[in-house]
Formats: sequence, C-alpha cells, structure tokens
Amino acid sequence: MTNNRNTPIEMTKEEFRSLGYQLIDSISSFLDTIHEKPVTSELQANILGNELLPEKGKSPDEIISKASKLVLNHSLLNGHPKFMGYITSSAAPIGALADLLAAAVNPNVGASILSPIATEIEKQTISWLSEFIGLSPDYGGILVSGGNMANMTAFLAALTEKAPKDFKEKGLFQSPQKMLVYCSQATHTWVEKAAVSTGLGTQSIRWIPTLENNKMDSIILEKTILEDIRQGYRPIMVIGTAGDVSTGVVDDLNLIANICKTYDLWFHIDGAYGIPASVLPELKNRFEGRQEADSIALDPHKWLYSPLEAGCVLVKNPKHLTNTYSSHPEYYNFSEEAGNSNLNFYEFGFQNSRGFRALKVWMTIQQVGRQGYIKMIREDIELAALLFELSNNHQELEGMCHNLSISTLRYVPSGLPADLEEREAYLNTLNEKLLNALQKNGEVFLSNAVIKGKYCLRACIVNFRTSKKDIEEIIDIIVKEGRRVHEELMVGEKAQELVMNK
Ligand SMILES: *Cc1c(COP(=O)(O)O)cnc(C)c1O
Repeated sequence: MTNNRNTPIEMTKEEFRSLGYQLIDSISSFLDTIHEKPVTSELQANILGNELLPEKGKSPDEIISKASKLVLNHSLLNGHPKFMGYITSSAAPIGALADLLAAAVNPNVGASILSPIATEIEKQTISWLSEFIGLSPDYGGILVSGGNMANMTAFLAALTEKAPKDFKEKGLFQSPQKMLVYCSQATHTWVEKAAVSTGLGTQSIRWIPTLENNKMDSIILEKTILEDIRQGYRPIMVIGTAGDVSTGVVDDLNLIANICKTYDLWFHIDGAYGIPASVLPELKNRFEGRQEADSIALDPHKWLYSPLEAGCVLVKNPKHLTNTYSSHPEYYNFSEEAGNSNLNFYEFGFQNSRGFRALKVWMTIQQVGRQGYIKMIREDIELAALLFELSNNHQELEGMCHNLSISTLRYVPSGLPADLEEREAYLNTLNEKLLNALQKNGEVFLSNAVIKGKYCLRACIVNFRTSKKDIEEIIDIIVKEGRRVHEELMVGEKAQELVMNK
C-alpha cells in the first residue's frame, strides 16, 4: 500500500480499514439475525441483469456494498438453524476470518519455500485430523477442495500402487489384465468420475449389493473378487463407505479390511461425511477397522463445520502420495529430521499452486477442541434421532431410518385409501411435491432420499445452530405443508376423474 505506482487496484491503508470494518459490520449483523431470515429467498431469475464487462473501474466502496447486499440477501442460507439439506454444514465464523487472513497474505502452499508457515500449519492440520479420527498422527495427506477430490486423489494413488510396476510410464495399456475396483451400490458418484478420469472406465467398477441394513454385502464382495481372479482380472482396491450420503450407514470396515488383506488389495474408506463421528466414544465400534485402511477421505467442510472448500485425504504411508504425484520420488526425503524444507505439497496431489485452506480448519480445531467437537457432533446426532422419533410419534408421519445425523421420513396423510400399489405411487408423488414446496417456501430446507423405492424427505444435521425447538417446529411445518399439498393433489385427482367420466 506504500508504493507510488498509480494502479487502479491498490487501496490505501485507510480505505482498506474503513471498507473492511463496514464489511465486517454487515457480516456480523447477517450472522446475528440469520435465524430470523427465510432459509432461502424466492428464486428470481437474472437478478444481475445483462450488464456488459465493465470498461472502467468503479470505487471499491460501491462494489463492496452492492456485492454484500446481493450475496447476503439472495443466497440459500446453509448457516440457518433450519437448513439440513444434502451434507452442507453451518460454517464456523472463525473460518470466515481465517479465509480473510489467508487471502491477505496469500501464501502459495504448493512449495514450502513459498509458504514456510502455511506448509507447517497444513502439516499440523493433517496430523490433527488423523488423530481426531483415531489414527496415528504420522499419517500423510493433503488438503483438497472436498470429498470428491480427496477420494480421487486416493484412487489414483491406489491404482499406481496396485497396477503393474511400470504403470506410471506405460499407462493402462501395458497391463495384461483388466483392473477392477469394488464398492457398494451406496457409494457416492465420485467413483465413476475416478474410473473415467483414470482411463479404467466405469465397467471396471464392481457394484457390490448392499444388505438390508444398507451395508456392503461382504460375502458377495469376496465371492466376486474370487470369481474375477479366476477369470483373469486384476482386482486392485475395495472402497468402503463410512457414512453413506443417503442414509449415513457405515460399512463393516473390519470385514472389508480382512478381505483386502487376504487378496492384497488397497483399502480405501470414503468417510467424507461420517468419519468425524468416530471421535465419539459411544461410536468407536461402528468405525472399527479404519486403522487398517491405506487411505481415507474426509471433509472438514462437512462435519468439522469449516467453510467451503476443505477436503482431506489421509494415507497410512505418505510415500504412496509422492510415488504417485511427484516426478522424482527417489530424491524425495520425508524424514522428520529434514523438517519442512522438503515438504512440497505439489508432490502430494493434483494441484500445483495451492491456497491456504488449512488455516480455517486449523483455527477452528483450536477454537473448538476435541471435546467441543464431541459435544457438537453428539448433539447433531441426538437432534436427528429426535426428528426420527417425533416423526414416528406423529399420526401423519412415518420415520424411515436414522443413522448418524441423517434421518429420513415421509408424510402419510390420514384416511388414505388402503389399495397398496396405488398407495405407494401416490405417496411418492405427494412427498416429492411436498419436498419441492418446502424447499421453495423458505421455512426449512431438506433434501430427499429414495429408500427401497420410497421417496423420503431427508434431513442431515451438520449444523451447530439447530436446536430442539427447530426440530419440533420442523415437524409442524412438514405436516402443515403436507396437508396442503395432499389436499391440492386430491382436488386435482377429483377434477381428473370428472374429466375422465365425461
Ligand atoms: C459429500 C460426500 C462426497 C463428496 O464430497 P464433496 O465435498 O461434495 O466433493 C463423497 N462421498 C461421501 C460419502 C460424501 O458424503
């Protein structure tokens, strides 16, 4: 700010301070009153109009006040206490301040020479995340944009390790055997992107059926692997899910780990959503076997309440990342004695220049501590359980399932004709229309799941602002809106009948 070159981009110290204070004032009022606002504002098409590329610059004052009005008033508020759609959390306020600090200094966390302290902070963050989920702090890893990238980063590492030795040089065509990966039918869509982008192709994915409880059927898994080996294929990895996106179910990780050991396969866990819950002493058993995994994906921007974007991949042996992503792994020295001067994150993943996304995760972990996370994660799970219980206690609601902090339910109007086949089809239509109506009206934000052919409303609570009262109110909102949509549909059906009878 103290140069004398006249550029249209620089700010004076006074300008930056005054605009910064104004912005912080707007943001603090926004956060303070977030619970009073609609969860989403009415969808208005083309709020921005068709302004062309600005030819000349404007004053930052005008830009910041216009941008804050637009963004604060026309967004879907995932920080709202009644937001529980998809798996998107309320973001820690300290994370917003951390991002400001990170952007102000702007270290390039691709290489330690460009980011000495930021590299050290990312390294410590990775150790803490490993410890958090009950692993040794010596795991290696890297922060990435989210779960998809974390899983894909691990996927290529698995392929590099388990493919024929010259895979990096000669690619897939050199392999005399087609390589296969195994995962359950409940696995997130990233696995298809990974199969496509690595050139394996989606036909290399063996989708293993799930049991009644939505866990991967490990007996079929082992049978499929054996049969594939007999047929001359080359199985390379099994992907277990720790908290599936629809229902929050955790695969039986120990069974998968044993199968991987027997057949020398890479064991990857997609824990993007659920694995932070392993910090709860009462849930330790459910995640047993995670210590056996070669790689684990988790998303600080989900259950650790970090602002977007923050995903993380952890690997038991850090060399598996550098062997894959560094062009000169033989010169690479990962020994502790070498300190951080050798730690260049561009050698651990796809990105070259990298932002300082570790800072917000690192600062939030310190504000909250392990005990603070145990409290918040436990409460999120209790709130989801309450929603499930209240649904089952209500005449017109049916709780479908509850796992971790996900509950699914549907609206079932009283006095519905008992004709079974038609009944299910009608309930699917009704609940789909109900979800759309709820999403539009802004009182609550839920998403959906289809469970055994039944269309359900789905709440995933990764939200430290949600309270018991919100859950009780949500029940009333769903029932009120459900009755309205049902009535509308019934009138429609009657009208249709009349037309048909003419
Ligand atoms: C959310 C999620 C993903 C995708 O993560 P993004 O952060 O959205 O990229 C993958 N797998 C599971 C199990 C998830 O919950």
